Amino acid sequence: MIVGVHPLAGFDKLLHYRVPDSLQASATVGALVRVPVLNSLRLGIIGEIGAPRDFPVDRLKSLAQVVHPFPALPPDLLGLARWMAGYYACGLDSIIETMIPAAVRNGAGLKQEKLLTVERHLSEEEITQLTKRAPQQARLYRFLAQQFKPQGRGLVLKRLGLTAAVSSALVKRGVLREETRRVDRVAYADDWAHGELVASQPHQLNSEQSAAVQAVAAGLTAEKFSVSLLHGVTGSGKTEVYLRAVDAALKSGGGVVYLVPEVALTPQTVARLRSRLEAIAPGHRVVVWHSHLSEGERLDGWLALATGEARVVVGARSAVFAPVQNLKLIVVDEEHEPAYKQDETPRYHGRDVAVMRAKLTGAVCLLGSATPSLESYANAQAGKYRLLQLLQRVDDRKLPHIDIVDLRIEAMRQRTLPALSHKLVEAMRGRLDRREQTILFINRRGYSSSMLCTKCGHVEECTHCSIALTYHRTDETLRCHLCGDQRPAPLRCPQCGAPEIRWRGLGTQRVEEAVRRVLPRAKIERMDTDAMAKKNRFRQILGDFRTGKIDVLVGTQMIGKGLDFPNVTLVGLIDADISMHIPDFRANERTFQLLVQVAGRAGRGDRAGEVIVQTFTPQAGAVQFSRHADYAGFAESELKMRRDFHYPPYRHLIHHLFRGPNPEKLKFFAEQWAKLVEKEFGDRLELRGPSPSPIEKIKDEYRWQLWYFCASATKVVPRLAELRSKFAWPDDLTQVLDVDPVNLG
Ligand SMILES: [Zn+2]
Ligand SMILES: [Zn+2]
Repeated sequence: MIVGVHPLAGFDKLLHYRVPDSLQASATVGALVRVPVLNSLRLGIIGEIGAPRDFPVDRLKSLAQVVHPFPALPPDLLGLARWMAGYYACGLDSIIETMIPAAVRNGAGLKQEKLLTVERHLSEEEITQLTKRAPQQARLYRFLAQQFKPQGRGLVLKRLGLTAAVSSALVKRGVLREETRRVDRVAYADDWAHGELVASQPHQLNSEQSAAVQAVAAGLTAEKFSVSLLHGVTGSGKTEVYLRAVDAALKSGGGVVYLVPEVALTPQTVARLRSRLEAIAPGHRVVVWHSHLSEGERLDGWLALATGEARVVVGARSAVFAPVQNLKLIVVDEEHEPAYKQDETPRYHGRDVAVMRAKLTGAVCLLGSATPSLESYANAQAGKYRLLQLLQRVDDRKLPHIDIVDLRIEAMRQRTLPALSHKLVEAMRGRLDRREQTILFINRRGYSSSMLCTKCGHVEECTHCSIALTYHRTDETLRCHLCGDQRPAPLRCPQCGAPEIRWRGLGTQRVEEAVRRVLPRAKIERMDTDAMAKKNRFRQILGDFRTGKIDVLVGTQMIGKGLDFPNVTLVGLIDADISMHIPDFRANERTFQLLVQVAGRAGRGDRAGEVIVQTFTPQAGAVQFSRHADYAGFAESELKMRRDFHYPPYRHLIHHLFRGPNPEKLKFFAEQWAKLVEKEFGDRLELRGPSPSPIEKIKDEYRWQLWYFCASATKVVPRLAELRSKFAWPDDLTQVLDVDPVNLG
């Protein structure tokens, strides 16, 4: 028997090996194996059984080991890996390494525990004798005889103050049985033990929810690939629909991948999901998967899924690669979230990969959002995805009222650029008097490199690309980092002539100070990425906020993700503009998403909510459509713009970055390469650039970039990758291809 193996050895090749008789039963496609490569043993994945014809079989080396008796990459994942290698132009080995966690590759040992149970029950007389002869043994026996299930040896001995010799003596005499068992480390297990988190109850579905569940269930029954896009306004009960779908998939004997953005993967979300899943599907273990797991936790979870012991995984982006058996359903919650895109090699998009995995497996993919990405929405409109809508909030709660504050007027009145408008301050005072709570959001998306006139709200845009121009301090220019067009940075606003054309961003700290000044009695807490770094601090603040110990919570948009605070009746968005003027054609989409999501945080309890949005550009479409949560209206106007400028979803965009210590050399090679690409693809591909990146230099490396627009990435990328591998790049130049990038800023 001969197998072809993809070794994980820093190169992308299929090598052939002979399989010794003893390993033939377990040497299946997708198995994780050890093989000799040069002079060392390397891990690898069996990619095929058999050898090409005319192969010098007698010179083959032998497979050394099969690590697990089951495939580490089931056929659908192996197929997915191959698709990703082509689509994202990266080595199969790097994808396999992404799919199989390091903990599994390293073969980290399982935590083992010795358990004690009573093997033979003693009579009263025997116990009496034992007590006389060996009182310690008798104590241990009596304790264990009262337990319903096996007990951890270490814990029992410690508790009774005994040594291992005591239990060994009883084991030797056949009174006790000792067995070794794997201990599962369940992430967030401590939360359960302390009852800190309340299990949520199943809800009655309204008619829209029922219709959505039925549609997904019908897809599951059909047992073939389909994608549904669940568009539900905030508070409409999307999670209920996901949970019922999961239930249906489990009942049909299938497995489930449930993806949420990493930021949303708080203990609260996990606990709620787990308790609901366990309520609707008793006996199912839910594996949690995210970047903060220890190696041991990851390995345990992976093994439980790979062996079919667990059939549900809840996790962030990389959980899409979990080895779930008989996969029937993939849920992608908050599918519009940019966090699904990985920003290092392989630069894959978790949602797109989820759709592809469902396709390869014949599973149902359920994408959901209050503000679907325009890519998904366009697919639904084109009939590729089924659109399911939840337009009512549960219990018919009203969407909060959105008030727009014009910061241009406010700046004039207060004679300075204020962090808080009068309206927002008054509203916060009212909340404080009524013992209700306020959340203030600070927009942290992008960076403050666009020029904005604080007098009239004007932002300089590229005439060719309709995106904000980026301000480069070094030579006082405004540049379009899509097409490279540039002009001198104006000293006065080209629209109104005012000299106030600069951008000042606001930090969470400055806003916190401003709140302290106007509300000296209020209890204020700040939550930003620094707070997130300290895991317990983050949870403590959320806990305090929930129990009403905090009046005003100031933070970046991450605090809003999927959290439910019934006593929050006011939400303020400090600076709606930043996301609107990031140099990205998705700027409006991001702003609309932000506004709707932020507004959705207000009034989740019985009281109506109020939202105050501060902006220099109140007339902008993203702001106006969000006032009425008019997603369809927004999508229509935005898709028109995308169509006019031939942006995604109407074409694919590929980013090509060149990095190196010498800017002249970068420019030269980028230009040579661009000429080659132009010649090769002609009008099948539109090129913009090369031009310096918005951040021209990072850690002593200069950066240039090229953009490619094309109708089909599948047709273009493999050829581009091939050309790239043959091009004579200098040694000190690094280049990175990013297919379907989500952040252009
Ligand atoms: Zn102006
Ligand atoms: Zn441009």
